[in-house]
Amino acid sequence: MDYKIKENSKIAAIAALLMKASQMAMVVGKTIYLHNTSREEFLGDTRWLRHEMVHLRQFEKYGLLRFLLLYTWESIRKGYYNNKYEIEARKGETL
Ligand SMILES: [Zn+2]
Repeated sequence: MDYKIKENSKIAAIAALLMKASQMAMVVGKTIYLHNTSREEFLGDTRWLRHEMVHLRQFEKYGLLRFLLLYTWESIRKGYYNNKYEIEARKGETL
């Protein structure tokens, strides 16, 4: 899979604040944005990496704008944890 990693990302810092998370990895398109974690730490965490890989595939499958809209709509309706794209990503962590 073709992707980029961006450390010390502002967008991931904002997401971490909103999610009340100390660390954050967030995918937009083909880029994984990191906050308060390094590329090495992230890549060394197999479950975390697999989770974000599922999100990369979701972006690839639906397209950037479409997936952002689908994901946002799903989050509004069901919240973060019960968002079907998060459920799929959590399943992918241990496959
Ligand atoms: Zn996720």
